[in-house]
Amino acid sequence: MTARLVLKPGRDKAMLHGHPWVFSGALAAEPQGVAPGATVVVESAEGRALALASWSPASQIRARVWSFDTTRPIDHAFFKRRVAEAIAMRRQLMPDFDRQGALRLLHGESDGLPGVICDWYRAATGDTGDSRAASPAESWLVIQLTSAGAEHWRDAIVAALVAVTGTVNVYERSDGDMRGLEGLEPRAGIVRAGEGITAPSADFSIEENGLRLGVDIVGGHKTGFYADQRVNRAKVGRMAAGKRVLNTFCYTGGFSVAALAGGAESVLSIDSSADAIALARANVARNGLDADRADWFCGDAFQALRRLRAEARQFDLIVLDPPKLAPSASHVDRAARAYKDINLNGLRLLAPGGLLFTYSCSGAISAELFQKIVAGAAADAPADAVIVERLGADVDHPLRLAFPEGEYLKGLVLRRAA
Ligand code: SAH
Repeated sequence: MTARLVLKPGRDKAMLHGHPWVFSGALAAEPQGVAPGATVVVESAEGRALALASWSPASQIRARVWSFDTTRPIDHAFFKRRVAEAIAMRRQLMPDFDRQGALRLLHGESDGLPGVICDWYRAATGDTGDSRAASPAESWLVIQLTSAGAEHWRDAIVAALVAVTGTVNVYERSDGDMRGLEGLEPRAGIVRAGEGITAPSADFSIEENGLRLGVDIVGGHKTGFYADQRVNRAKVGRMAAGKRVLNTFCYTGGFSVAALAGGAESVLSIDSSADAIALARANVARNGLDADRADWFCGDAFQALRRLRAEARQFDLIVLDPPKLAPSASHVDRAARAYKDINLNGLRLLAPGGLLFTYSCSGAISAELFQKIVAGAAADAPADAVIVERLGADVDHPLRLAFPEGEYLKGLVLRRAA
C-alpha cells in the first residue's frame, strides 16, 4: 500500500494549482517508516487524493510530485512516458533538433520530473584537422539527480533515456550542492558506455550555431556546458562585427567564440577559473579564429571591471553572465548589491551606442527585480540606456506555469544612447 502524506487543513491550494512541492510546514503529520524516495500519495485534510509524490525526509521540501493523476502507478512505464513526452516536445519545437550539439532533454520540475536534469551532448563531426577528434559514436547523455525520488528511480530514468534516445553513453554528474539538502551523497562517473569507452575523450566537442566547442563533461560546471545560453550566444555573434567586446564570467568562452566568429574587432574575456579559460582558448583555436583578437584575464570579474574603468577602457558590446549570485531567497539582498555593482561598472564601460547583454540565473531574483536592479545601476552610472530586448533560455528549458521558481535565466539587452 502506498503511504499517505496528509496535509494540514487549507494547505492544499498550491497543489490544486499544480505546484509540485510539499513543504514540511504543510504536513499534518510526518509519515513513519517510509524510505527516502518512496512514492507517497498526498492527501488534503479532507482525505482527497491530490498527487503521487516522492518522500524526502531530509529536505524542507518533504515531497515532490511525480504526477497529479493518482490512478496510474509510478513505475518504469511512467518514466518512459515522461521522458518520451519531454523529447517529443523538443522535437516539435526545434526543427533542427537532430543537428543540435548540446540540448537540455529533461529540465526537472518543468518536465514533470523533479530533481532530474539531463543534457544531451552530440559529438561534433567533420574535419577540423584535429586527429584526436571524438567520433560521433561518442555522444553522451549527462544526468544530474538532485532529489531523493530521482535517486530512487535512477535505473528507470536511465533506462527510459537510453530507450527513447538510442544513446549508448551515459555519464552522471550528481555532484552539485543540491544533493546534500536531500541527504544524498555526491556521485559522478560513467553510468554506462559503449564498448571500449572508459571516459569521455579529453577533447570531446560539440557544435553550436555552427561553431565547435569543447565540453568538459567530467570536470566542467553542472553537466559540463551552459546550453541555456545557446540562442543568446548566436545573438551576440550576429551583433559583434567590428566591435570591441568584453565577455565577463566567460566560462569556456561560448560568447567569446561567437563574437570572434561574428567579426569582433577584439574580445576581452574574464573568468576566475583557469581551467575554464584554458578550454575557452582551445575553443578559439578549434574554430580557426584569430587568437590575436582575443585577450584573456583570469581573476575576479568584479575587481576587473573596476580596473578597466580606472584605465578608462571602453567597449561596444559587453556580456555580464555571472554565476547564480542568489542561491536562495535568503541571499537576495546581497545578490542584488552584487548584480548592481557589475551592471553599474558594465554600463560605465559601455561606449555611446554600445550594447549590454546582462543576465541573472538566480531563480530567487524575479525578472521584475532584475530589471529594477539594472535600472538602479543605470541611474547611478549615470547612463542613458533603453531595454531593446528581453532574453531567456531556448525552448529546451521550458517553464511549468505553476512553478515560477523554475524561471531562472533572464537577460536584458540595453543600448546606451549614442
Ligand atoms: N557565459 C558562460 C557561462 C558563465 S557561468 C557561457 O556562456 O558558457 C559563470 C562563470 O563565472 C563560471 O565560469 C565561473 O568560473 C565564473 N565566476 C564565478 N565567480 C567569478 C568571479 N568572481 N569572477 C570571475 N568569474 C567568476
